[in-house]
Amino acid sequence: AKQLGRARYSFFQQDMDANAVQRMELERELKLALERDELLLHYQALVDARTGEWRGLEALIRWQHPQRGLLPPGHFIELAEETGLILELGWQVIEKACAQLARWKAAGRHPGQIAINLSALQFREQGLPDRVADAMRRHGVRPGELAIELTESTLLRDTDTALQILTRLRDLGLSLSVDDFGTGYSSLAYLKLLRPARLKIDRAFVREVDTRADDRALVQAMLGMAAALSIDVIAEGVETDAQRDALVALGCWQQQGYLFCRPQAVDVLTDRLAAWTAP
Ligand code: C2E
Ligand code: CA
Ligand code: CA
Ligand code: CA
Repeated sequence: AKQLGRARYSFFQQDMDANAVQRMELERELKLALERDELLLHYQALVDARTGEWRGLEALIRWQHPQRGLLPPGHFIELAEETGLILELGWQVIEKACAQLARWKAAGRHPGQIAINLSALQFREQGLPDRVADAMRRHGVRPGELAIELTESTLLRDTDTALQILTRLRDLGLSLSVDDFGTGYSSLAYLKLLRPARLKIDRAFVREVDTRADDRALVQAMLGMAAALSIDVIAEGVETDAQRDALVALGCWQQQGYLFCRPQAVDVLTDRLAAWTAP
């Protein structure tokens, strides 16, 4: 048994080493990707589910990897956060979203508000608001045209700095959405602290909302609480008509999901934006 144990341990060790090598390789590639501009944004519509009208877009990062094709953030965001590369990645996201907004506007296709996802680590950078302001100025992005999405756990550490940064971003006209609402810790304390414009109900509550009374009760409770605090609510990950209808029946008509629009490249999306009419 001892022998076997040792053998297992050494297999495990090899696995660990292989893993570590893979991660170092990925880190090297991600650094290069940032230099070579291999990252790009796809966009997914936020929709009024009662009418199907598009209200805005969420920017979702992708990596056009030279060998492995188009990679979703699940392959590299965590590594970017662990290695600090998330900061450079984050700047590129802000820059790309502002530049794209300007291009769309120049083409007469206003997409509505664009929401970008920010990482916790970006909220320790005192320079964040200035750099956002600079990108907005250079690209002619007006207050209200940009929103930020944060997951609930984002501000857990060093809350004072994060809140200061958030206040300065608000002063620039950026509205705040709390992402993945209901899945993290301290949801309610965070609503009080952050006073977001919007909360996004996580897909975990949407998946079975048409078949489960408990999910409906939870969504209803979130809607009631949000209404009392004048916070908008949007449901994420809506994939079926039944989910859409159940949510609309509860009063949650702002929705996002594959049912309406998959995250898509700019080229594909631009044609669909033509149908979008400014409010
Ligand atoms: P998220 O912000 O919660 O984004 C929603 C995710 O759900 C996206 O995955 C989107 O493609 C996916 N999704 C949208 N509709 C549906 C649906 O109907 N069904 C299902 N099953 N999934 C749907 P994606 O693009 O892979 O992004 C994953 C996560 O990566 C995001 O979750 C966000 O936390 C992070 N992320 C994406 N872009 C950025 C970025 O620019 N910066 C940072 N820091 N994080 C990002
Ligand atoms: Ca998001
Ligand atoms: Ca989310
Ligand atoms: Ca998420």
